[in-house]
Amino acid sequence: MNRKPVDIGRQLKQLAVDGFGVWSANKTVMITTTLQIDKCQYKCRWCHKLHVGPSRVLEFRCVGERELQHGLERTYEGDFSAVCECDQPLTITFLAKEYPEGVFGCGGHRSSDAEIIVEPTVREHMEILG
Ligand SMILES: [Zn+2]
Repeated sequence: MNRKPVDIGRQLKQLAVDGFGVWSANKTVMITTTLQIDKCQYKCRWCHKLHVGPSRVLEFRCVGERELQHGLERTYEGDFSAVCECDQPLTITFLAKEYPEGVFGCGGHRSSDAEIIVEPTVREHMEILG
């Protein structure tokens, strides 16, 4: 085998960045978290078809945090997209709140394509390592 020497320092730096979020252009740390959303029901605004679920794992990005009595409350946004049977793409931005740390809940939504009938339950996505 003919392998190039590995730049360990660079690899560790990359791991550190991956572990704690991504450095954005303006040098602030962007925190992202992977959350699972379940039991969402929404209606297409175009054909009014009701959609139920399915469970989805979405990447949420932290868009704000504030100090409360029991620690930090973080707000996240995650983008959900689907295509309705009427061929209309539906996008929904779900908001999630984390407070106290590690406890997630749905914090609202924004969508111009879909009407949310039942807001999803939001929980931390656990990677199952086999
Ligand atoms: Zn539709």
